[in-house]
Order: sequence, then structure tokens, then C-alpha cells
Amino acid sequence: MKYQFEDLKDAVVIITGSGRGIGKGIAEVFADYGSKIVITDIDADTAKATAAEIAQKGVETLSYICDVSKYDQVEAMVADVAAKWGKIDILVNNAGITMDGMFLRMKPEQWQKVIDINLTGTYNCTSAVVQVMRKAKKGAIINISSIAAGGNPGQANYSASKAGVIGFTKALGKELAPMGIRVNAIAPGFIQTAMTDKIPEKLREQMLQAIPMKRPGQPEDIAKAILFLASGLASYITAQVIDVNGGLSSL
Ligand code: NAP
Repeated sequence: MKYQFEDLKDAVVIITGSGRGIGKGIAEVFADYGSKIVITDIDADTAKATAAEIAQKGVETLSYICDVSKYDQVEAMVADVAAKWGKIDILVNNAGITMDGMFLRMKPEQWQKVIDINLTGTYNCTSAVVQVMRKAKKGAIINISSIAAGGNPGQANYSASKAGVIGFTKALGKELAPMGIRVNAIAPGFIQTAMTDKIPEKLREQMLQAIPMKRPGQPEDIAKAILFLASGLASYITAQVIDVNGGLSSL
């Protein structure tokens, strides 16, 4: 058969913030296709436990404690992966946080931390990984934006960070295309994870009702779109954003 995902077998995939949630779901799906998985998370125990769980699928895994907002930690992690496995084929910039609040009460720390992790973290990991990918003249980078990039009240910090991720993706996709590196983004809608579990129940119900497919997305729904973008099936796709949201157009 012509279009299998054979290119993903033994591909080295780094997924940031993959101890749980969407990141863990992405790791599981890539493992199903035989990729070598790098689990990185801010929490060492979570990263280790998830890497051990993924390894049970019969693939090789590595785990790192790595705060994406700290360039030195990112650089050390990327250097170690390259030394151990000799290449990095795919980077998924998944790590992200929310620190919601109405703007009139939003503290500078609330603004800065969300930008540091969601946007600067995406820059940090991409910057370190591109140094490895450029030598191989190939690679796929997938950034996680959000439906909130369109502007969501109470999330000025988060919306700004995720809109920034889209601009970053489009600029870098064009810049790195001649080097054989593709850069795309996924904009998830409402996905059932710890991040959405902390939304007050009444608001969560309203959001769920607004989804045309009448169900929350699952981490696997995001993972499948990322798998496509990382694979040879998407070989002519770069600098694009794909919405994965069950038909929801805004929050
Ligand atoms: P989650 O369940 O909160 O998981 C986020 C993961 O990132 C956790 O494992 C967390 O570790 C880790 N993390 C937090 N800060 C980090 C840092 N500085 N460095 C490295 N890892 C860090 O969230 P999620 O729902 O899976 O979200 C994953 C991505 O999808 C995020 O970028 C989010 O903005 C985006 N997204 C989610 C939704 C949704 O509906 N869930 C919608 C749109 C976009 P700890 O658990 O140890 O804190």
C-alpha cells in the first residue's frame, strides 16, 4: 500500500508537557505507530511514570524533567536526546498553562508566566531542536495554539500567547521551508483534560452545549491531527493552522 505511516516508525518525537493530558495522548498515538518517544514535563515523577507506561507499547522512550520556559533546561534535554538517538524528527510544542482572570484584575505575574511558558517555551524548544533538524535537512514541528487565539474574555494572557503561537508558526514555516523543515499548528477547541476540568461547572456546561458535535474532544482527537501533520501525508503542508474543535467556532 502506498500511504502508510511508515515514516513514523523509529522517528524520534519530542513532546513537551507530555506527562499527562493532550501531550500524553499524543505520545500514545505516536507509540502506536512505532515512534521513539521523548516525554518531557515540569514534574519528574509524572514524566518518568508516563514514559514507563508508553514503553509498555513496545517502543523506546526517554523522560526528562524540563521546564520549557528555561532555555538552559531545554538545551540540555535536546542535546541529550541528540546524543542518545542521533536525530530529532518531530517536535510537538504542547506544554501550556492557563492563569485566567478578568483583565482589570490581571497581575503582571499572571501575564508573564503564561507568555513565558506558552509562547517563549515554544520559541525555546524550537530554537534548540532546529539546530539538530537543519543538519538533517528535514523535520516537522507542530505547535499547539487554541481556539482562544480568536480572543476569549477572561483569557487576555492566554489568548495573546496562543495568537502569538500562530504568528510564530506562519513566519517560521515560511523561513524554514527551504531547509526541509515544516512548521504547522493545531488549534484545539474544548478538550477534556485537567486544564478544562478546572473551568467552573456552569461555564463548562455552556461550552459543551455550544459544541456542534455535542461532546468534548479527547486528547486522541488532537493526537490524530498531529500524527497527520508529522507524517509524509502532509509533505506539502507548512505554515498552516488546523482547527480541531468538533465544529465550535469560538468559546
Ligand atoms: P494539562 O492537562 O494542564 O497538561 C499540561 C501539561 O504541561 C502538564 O503535564 C503540565 O505539567 C505540563 N507543563 C506545565 N507547565 C510546564 C512547563 N513550564 N514546562 C513543561 N511542561 C509544563 O493541559 P492540556 O489540556 O493537556 O493542554 C495541552 C496543550 O493544549 C496546552 O498548550 C494548552 O494550552 C493546549 N490547549 C488545550 C485545550 C483544552 O481544551 N484542554 C484547548 C486548546 C489548547 P504539570 O501537570 O506537572 O503541571
